Amino acid sequence: MASRHTVLMRLVASAYSIAQKAGSIVRRVIAEGDLGIVEKTCATDLQTKADRLVQMSICSSLARKFPKLTIIGEEDLPSEDVDQELIEDGQWEEILKQPCPSQYSTIKEEDLVVWVDPLDGTKEYTEGLLDNVTVLIGIAYEGKAIAGIINQPYYNYQNNEKQKLREYKNEAKAGPDAVLGRTIWGVLGLGAFGFQLKEVPAGKHIVTTTRSHSNKLVTDCVTAMNPDDVLRVGGAGNKIIQLIEGKASAYIFASPGCKKWDTCAPEVILHAMGGKLTDIHGNALQYNKDVKHMNSAGVLATLRNYDYYASRVPESVKNALVP
Ligand code: AMP
Ligand code: MG
Ligand code: MG
Repeated sequence: MASRHTVLMRLVASAYSIAQKAGSIVRRVIAEGDLGIVEKTCATDLQTKADRLVQMSICSSLARKFPKLTIIGEEDLPSEDVDQELIEDGQWEEILKQPCPSQYSTIKEEDLVVWVDPLDGTKEYTEGLLDNVTVLIGIAYEGKAIAGIINQPYYNYQNNEKQKLREYKNEAKAGPDAVLGRTIWGVLGLGAFGFQLKEVPAGKHIVTTTRSHSNKLVTDCVTAMNPDDVLRVGGAGNKIIQLIEGKASAYIFASPGCKKWDTCAPEVILHAMGGKLTDIHGNALQYNKDVKHMNSAGVLATLRNYDYYASRVPESVKNALVP
């Protein structure tokens, strides 16, 4: 029997449940204590057991339900012979109650490309900065990012002693009963859900950038923004969450290194809230299945005031970053 729901909304509802299972795997690997760290290209490009298990879980769960999808995951792993225990078959019914934006109602499964970052912020994960970590599932159609799911497995986790003290004094929102983890999702034309939109006070320029992959181009570009404050945190997903929750006003990464699976899902959440994510030249990113994975010309993303930041990117930085 044909479903009365569109392919896109069924995929988003399934990806929501799959991302939640992914979050529980990320927590379980930490709890078991053996991270199984492997260096990929260098000491700041790592893979853990959680990256591997989550990639297998997400890609196999999606492929079983939606066999005609194109799925591109960060980790180079086989997706056959995956343990049944890693498969998630559920779909979140709340998403199926939402209307599919009319421009996407006739999309076929074979027309969709899914970009999967099983664990974004791996370097920080290995260092115990657990709230930097996200699981990213981005969905693209005709080269454009149109739907995205971000699971933050350690939302509400208190990373440092100062926060623990605030919690003790009952000043922080995350008390001892706070639920660990959350899932944010969005579809262009429908909106983004699972968080409270907050904006940085008008006139304040707070830049968020990489913590583990900095270089001279990155710092030159950040300095040129004349920021009131600079935050250095891990993860592309985490930095987009900072933009929509009023912690930062621009995410600037003037370097290659970030890939399509890092930006696809976060871009949708930001765009659904009226923000903008481009490369450092102002070009939109493309997500069709044959595109190169590297975002060679960096990332510039804001919720508001995109032009303030775009106009301040130095020519020397632009010349060094070829799209
Ligand atoms: P970061 O802001 O450093 O957390 O980077 C955001 C995303 O891009 C993460 O998934 C990083 O692993 C990836 N990334 C950025 N720069 C590099 C690099 N030089 N080598 C490998 N991955 C990188
Ligand atoms: Mg990543
Ligand atoms: Mg990753």
